[in-house]
Amino acid sequence: MSKKVVILGAGYGGLLAAINVRKYLNKDQAEVTVVNKYPTHQIITELHRLAAGNVSEQAIAMPLTKLFKGKDINLKIATVESFSVDQKEVKLSDGSSLTYDALVVALGSITAYFGIPGLEENSMVLKSADDANRIYHHIEEHIRKYAQTKDAADATIVIGGGGLTGVELVGEIADMMPTLARNYGVDPKEVKLLLVEAGPKILPVLPDELIERATTSLEARGVQFLTGLPVTKVEGNVIELKDGQKIVANTFVWTGGVQGNPLVAESGLEVNRGRATVNEYLQSTSHKDVFVVGDSAVVFGPDGRPFPPTAQIAWQMGEQTGYNVYAFLENKSLKEFTQVNSGTLASLGRKDAVATIGANATQLKGLPASLMKEASNVRYLSHIKGLFSLAY
Ligand code: NAD
Repeated sequence: MSKKVVILGAGYGGLLAAINVRKYLNKDQAEVTVVNKYPTHQIITELHRLAAGNVSEQAIAMPLTKLFKGKDINLKIATVESFSVDQKEVKLSDGSSLTYDALVVALGSITAYFGIPGLEENSMVLKSADDANRIYHHIEEHIRKYAQTKDAADATIVIGGGGLTGVELVGEIADMMPTLARNYGVDPKEVKLLLVEAGPKILPVLPDELIERATTSLEARGVQFLTGLPVTKVEGNVIELKDGQKIVANTFVWTGGVQGNPLVAESGLEVNRGRATVNEYLQSTSHKDVFVVGDSAVVFGPDGRPFPPTAQIAWQMGEQTGYNVYAFLENKSLKEFTQVNSGTLASLGRKDAVATIGANATQLKGLPASLMKEASNVRYLSHIKGLFSLAY
């Protein structure tokens, strides 16, 4: 009898899980349903480029109906309201519910606000194509306003958080700003582009030499860094820092961190700080019929530290889970998840980047790093397109 496989989320982990489940199980063996809140698979590692108007939405948001065409995958565009792993039931925003023989949880992460007063209400985030479009239109609107009012707040853009998301975004905005400002008759030098970071340095995952390189490159394009200064409070357009200084900015994007999707902790799955704990097969430690991938899971590496919530790991976990769902349903041996670290690539705008590559963490800067970043994106796109055309 056909088994029911339900996959929650069509980001990197969910999409790759769906493709691989279908590689091993045909439609007579399993009915596969993917639930996603957007009708597109979004290449979220490229959102910073959309937020600065440097890429088209079509290039980074691919319709799931197109990706799933002819693959016998049921697609439900709906938000998961809740799921119970004890009752084996998923409740959706359209009022329907789903049951399963195997569940893949790939719901990603949400923005962390760390309880900072006023932050959530008074900031934008960069988690989806809609968010990226909102940021772009917001910046454009305020530069247009500034041309008329000369209110400095309209020409002040603050990014909160100097991790990879914040730095990649600020680099892209720095590149687009001169053209945008001039289009509205504004001198680009009048636009303030600030990045506030709580820690002593931006991009703490990279070696000091590359941090230095990133800082110099971005400062040369007008970015001002405020490091060692956590955002402590936001009231309207006033951003307060730990030293008491207040920045008045009509554009504030918060990229200060991510946390597990709360639905996971509420589902009955065993969790560790909001992320599901999994065994070496990416199976929940509490419920063997549930596999958890990407940012929804916490996986500890050989050094005992959790893997960071990155796209490349979500992708690898999704692929492995596709096979393991098949193995679980067909009573075959499951395969252990092994992570391949291809490095860290941080773009610094259209023409600059820094990267550490491979097991030896070889450092790259400038054009070679930019080309690596581009190649990594192309590699992902051709990988998913290739897999879809290969699927049974
Ligand atoms: P992050 O947690 O990596 O960085 C957030 C930054 O915000 C930290 O440096 C933190 O010190 C700072 N911060 C926290 N509280 C603050 C406060 N109150 N005021 C000011 N700064 C504050 O988050 P991210 O950059 O969104 O990255 C999330 C994950 O996604 C990471 O694992 C990252 O590696 C991954 N990612 C990877 C890429 C890439 O590979 N190019 C791009 C984007 C994100």
